[in-house]
Order: sequence, then structure tokens, then C-alpha cells
Amino acid sequence: MHEVFWAARDPENHGHPGLGALLYAYCPRAARWWAQGEEPVGLPLPERQALQDMVVWGTRGLRAALRERGLADAWAAVADYLRQAAAYRLGVARRGLDPAGAEEDRLFLETLRWGVPVTIQRAEGLRALGGVEGLRRYVRTWAFLAPAWAGRDTPPAEPIPVGEARLDLTLPPGTPQPLRFPLWQVGERYGLLPTGIDALVEGLAATGVLRDAGGETAGRLVRLDLAGAPQPLQGSPPPESVLRGLGRAARQGPYPPLRALQGGRPACRGCGYQHRCWVRGRLSGEEE
Ligand code: SF4
Repeated sequence: MHEVFWAARDPENHGHPGLGALLYAYCPRAARWWAQGEEPVGLPLPERQALQDMVVWGTRGLRAALRERGLADAWAAVADYLRQAAAYRLGVARRGLDPAGAEEDRLFLETLRWGVPVTIQRAEGLRALGGVEGLRRYVRTWAFLAPAWAGRDTPPAEPIPVGEARLDLTLPPGTPQPLRFPLWQVGERYGLLPTGIDALVEGLAATGVLRDAGGETAGRLVRLDLAGAPQPLQGSPPPESVLRGLGRAARQGPYPPLRALQGGRPACRGCGYQHRCWVRGRLSGEEE
């Protein structure tokens, strides 16, 4: 659902009833914050940050991107990580195993954790990625996910084109303007980032129109998965009555902080309104 909060930051989506419905489906309290004009925080995501940097530096520009982030001193550890990961993947491929498993995460996290110099362990650039674990996900996107999404070898012999794109969703029926979602183009494929896009969005996305940065209709849509392989979108759009009901609830309430009530703080981790609901570690008691 991460993309919904990025979409909520787009001024062209301001007041869009379909976005209110999606936010309500995520958590009623989120729909209320948005209806009140509160801008959600677009949560940093290492995979998203890697793709952003690939747009600037190209898919062979990891070292330059790290330098730009003030993490040049991490390069030796990162290069070591990449070497070990490549050797590991070669080994599992030779044994006919699936290299897309998460095993290398476990194996090589320690390489990064202990290899990143203490001098930058508290650096702003590392914090922005979410610490050493975020750096691992960032590097993994360069080394493995982007090539896998593009259907290339790991590491790819040639640079992979990466660019920004968007998805236009027309919903609910009769809504004046489409709802815009930020997307990425990776190789010849297009897809949503792998952040818990639920069946509701997936079904709607399958009926949307992809556009490149210039607004032209672009290629096909796939769902990008953290395991690496692009997944076809198979969801069917939710019934119109469901969308309309969610849109009505987004306008009229009630607005309970449902996620927090069901799963506590961990359930809110992907939400762009944590700063409004959680004050000094406690769920705000503010009532609608
Ligand atoms: S922080 Fe939690 S309770 Fe508040 S809007 Fe987000 S998901 Fe809902």
C-alpha cells in the first residue's frame, strides 16, 4: 500500500474520491487525515531509493550513487558483499537451485554489517536508507532485483534502462480525472513496487493505463516482487458497489484507527500518517 501514500502526495490527486476509498480500505483513520488536508509522509523504501538513483546514475553507477549519498567509505564492504553474493548465486545456479531465495540475505548481511566502517554507521546517508539493513536492500536492488525484474542475467552485462512512469486508474466510474500512481520502468517491463499492494489495488491496476514520463501510453504492467521475478497482475477489479461504499465511508466516516487497533504499532509501519496517530509511542486518543 506504500504507493497509495505516494499517490496521496501528488497534487493532481488532491480530493480524488477513488484515493479516499483506497485509503479507507487501508485504514479508516488514514482516510480522515487525508480528507483533512494532511499530507502523508512518503516513506523511504530502499528499493525505491535504489531505482531513483538508477535513473540518475544508470544501473552500473552504484559506486557513484553511494558517493552521492555520502557513503563512499562503504564501497569496500559493498563490493565484498557483491562478490560474495555473485559467487553464492553462481554456486546455487550450478546446483540447479533457485537463486531468488532469501538465503543470501542471511548469509551476507553480516558481511555488510561488520564491513561498513564505524565512521559512517551513524551517517545521515545510512540513516536515510534505514541503516545497514536498508543498505543491504538498496544494494540488493542494484545487484539482483533490477536485473531480475528486467529479465537479465545477474549481474547484467549491459546497463538496464530504468525510468519513471505512472499508472492512470479510472475509478470509480464517472470520476472526472484518473487517479495517478507513481511507477518505475525497469527494462522493458513496468511495475508497481513490491510493498504490499493488496488485491484491491492490484485488481484496479490491472485495468489501468500505463504512461511513460512524457505521458504517452507505455508498456505492460507487472507486479514487482521482492523475490525478484516479475509477477503478472491477475486481480479482477472490485465491484463498483464496493468502491462506492468505500468512497462514501471515506467522506462520512466512521474513522477508527483500525490497523492500530488490530495490530498495534507494527501494523502501522507502512502508513504515511504514523506521525499523526502515534505520539510519543502511544496511539493518539483524538476522536473524530
Ligand atoms: S498510523 Fe495506523 S492507525 Fe493511524 S492511519 Fe496509519 S494505519 Fe491507521
